[in-house]
Amino acid sequence: MTIRPDARLDTGQVRDRRGMGGGIAVGGGIAGIIAVVMFLMGGGDASQLVGALNGETVGGQQTNDLSQECQTGADAASRDDCRIIGYVNSIQAYWGGEVAGYRLATTTFFEGGINTGCGYATSAVGPFYCPPDFGIYIDLGFFDALTTRLGAEGGPFAEAYIIAHEYGHHVQNLVGTTGSGSGAGAEGASVRTELQADCYAGVWASHAVGTGFLQPITQDQIGQALDAAEAVGDDRIQERTQGQVNPETWTHGSSEQRQEWFRIGLDTGDPTACDTFSADL
Ligand SMILES: [Zn+2]
Repeated sequence: MTIRPDARLDTGQVRDRRGMGGGIAVGGGIAGIIAVVMFLMGGGDASQLVGALNGETVGGQQTNDLSQECQTGADAASRDDCRIIGYVNSIQAYWGGEVAGYRLATTTFFEGGINTGCGYATSAVGPFYCPPDFGIYIDLGFFDALTTRLGAEGGPFAEAYIIAHEYGHHVQNLVGTTGSGSGAGAEGASVRTELQADCYAGVWASHAVGTGFLQPITQDQIGQALDAAEAVGDDRIQERTQGQVNPETWTHGSSEQRQEWFRIGLDTGDPTACDTFSADL
């Protein structure tokens, strides 16, 4: 999954807040620091923190500018962050042409923790999509954890799969299927929602070359995505962390299910084939 060297990257689809002190804006002063500590201890939400800081910008607009560093696909070949931007651009180019009224979703790079429309989040939760602010949040260190802690082989296409999965949640939010996802268990609504996002990731992969951002995908790269899907399966993670598997507490689906639905999306290239809600899982 290599970005075409001549592709023009749109850094406007990404916010880079790495090194910004956990999403707390500089300038809060002593009162701000106290409020932040109270916030962290009290488990409040971001809107309360904004109030506590008396109008100070929280999680504000201060960002690193990547527009010079990440201009083309050639930059994506030498920098991980530019490569992720290329994936984001390709994924949104595809869905923009597929979903009527598609609305761009910003991906935010952060380190440590960040305030979002879904409250304060730390890197520990992994990459996530926040429906209220239409945002995707990722600490790029997750990709190291994917290999060191979750045992995946890793690789660029593993990263692309993760990003495309999160954008799958964005598509669900836009077309109105997000709300149908709650309830744990191997055949529960949460698993069905997650498997649909995996399927959507596969659908994008099948159209990725057509977006103009990517060179043809190799079998090795498909293997990286399937390997990542296996590594983040609930059964695999439960085995690693608890030493036992409890399907009734699954939220994302088994390794086999996640690979299967990514594959369905990839093979069909058809979002309507991703009807995990009526499928017999
Ligand atoms: Zn998900």
